[in-house]
Amino acid sequence: MSDQSDDQAPPSRLNPIDPDEQKYLDCETEVELIDAVRAGSPDNPVQPVKMMLSDSFNFRCHRGVSCWNECCHGADITLTPNCILQLSKHLDVRPAEFLVKYTVPAEQEKTGLPVAKLKMGGGDGRGPCPFMTAEGCSVYEDRPATCRYYPLGLASVKPKGSDVKEDFFFLVEEPHCCGHKESQSQTVAEFRTAQELEEFEEVNRGWMDILMKMASWMSLGGPWGQKPSQPVMQMFFMASTDVDAFRRFVFGTKFLDTYDIDVEAHEALKTDDALLLRLGFDWMKNVMFREPTLAMQEHVVQAAVAKARNDLGAM
Ligand code: SF4
Ligand code: SF4
Repeated sequence: MSDQSDDQAPPSRLNPIDPDEQKYLDCETEVELIDAVRAGSPDNPVQPVKMMLSDSFNFRCHRGVSCWNECCHGADITLTPNCILQLSKHLDVRPAEFLVKYTVPAEQEKTGLPVAKLKMGGGDGRGPCPFMTAEGCSVYEDRPATCRYYPLGLASVKPKGSDVKEDFFFLVEEPHCCGHKESQSQTVAEFRTAQELEEFEEVNRGWMDILMKMASWMSLGGPWGQKPSQPVMQMFFMASTDVDAFRRFVFGTKFLDTYDIDVEAHEALKTDDALLLRLGFDWMKNVMFREPTLAMQEHVVQAAVAKARNDLGAM
C-alpha cells in the first residue's frame, strides 16, 4: 500500500447520519473476529460450541503432547493491528519490514476489508510458521491473538435493533489437537486472563468495531449501499498495519489542520504507536461510517459551509 503525498487532504465526512440511513445499521449481524480453526478443511468438519465467559472447558497445551507443534503448520492466522505492532517490536523491525517478510495480503472474509495474514512456509502455505522451533513458539510472549485464543474463537454479535455488541466465544475441537484430552479445566474468562487477552484486545478494539460494522453493512453492498472506494480501503490497510506510514500521513499532510485533535496529543502521537492506532481507527470510523469520532476544525467546517452556499447560489 502506498504512502500519501504531502499536500493531500484526508478524505472526510461532513454530514451527520441521516435518520433514514439508520435502518441500514439495524440489521442483525454476527462476525467471527478470531477464528478457532487452524487448519480446517471441508473434509474435516468441526462443530463449534458456543460459550460465554463463565463456561468451562478442558484444555492444556504443553511440550509433552504427541501433537506438539502440529497446529503451527499451515495455520490461517489473520494478524490484528496489535499483533503486527507486538511482533515487529519482538523482532526489532519496523512494521513495513515485518509485513514484507512475514505476511501475505488478504481480504477479511465477512467484510471484504484488507488484512495481513501470517505467511506460512512451504510452496502451498501448508508448511511451518516462520516462528516455530522444536522447542515451541519463538515469539511466544508476543504471539498473535489467534494463537493466544486457540482452541477458542471470538465472535461479536449485534442483535437486531440494538446498538450494543455482544462478544461470545466458541470452542473447536480439531481432531489433531490432543490438548482437549487433558484434565485441566478452566473457564473462558480464566483462559483469557492466562493468555493476557484483555490488554491485547484493548488496543484492537476500534479495529474490531470497524470489522463488525462493515459486516453489518455487507448485505447492503457496503456503507449506505456502496463499497468503500479503493483509496479508503488503502487508508484502512495503512492505518491498521503500518504505524510509521500512518504517522507520516498524519504529520506530512493537512490531517492535523483538518481535524480537531488536542494539541497536547500531537507530541504523544509522534512516539506512541498504540495511541496512533486508536487515532487511525477513530478516523476510519468517521470516514467510512460517518461516526462522530473525530471533529473537524472550525475553519474547515466554515469553508465547507461557504462552498456549499456558493454551489447552491451558482445553480
Ligand atoms: S506464532 Fe507461534 S504459536 Fe502462532 S503459529 Fe507461529 S509458532 Fe505457532
Ligand atoms: S495440544 Fe493442540 S494447541 Fe497444543 S500443540 Fe497440540 S495441536 Fe497445538
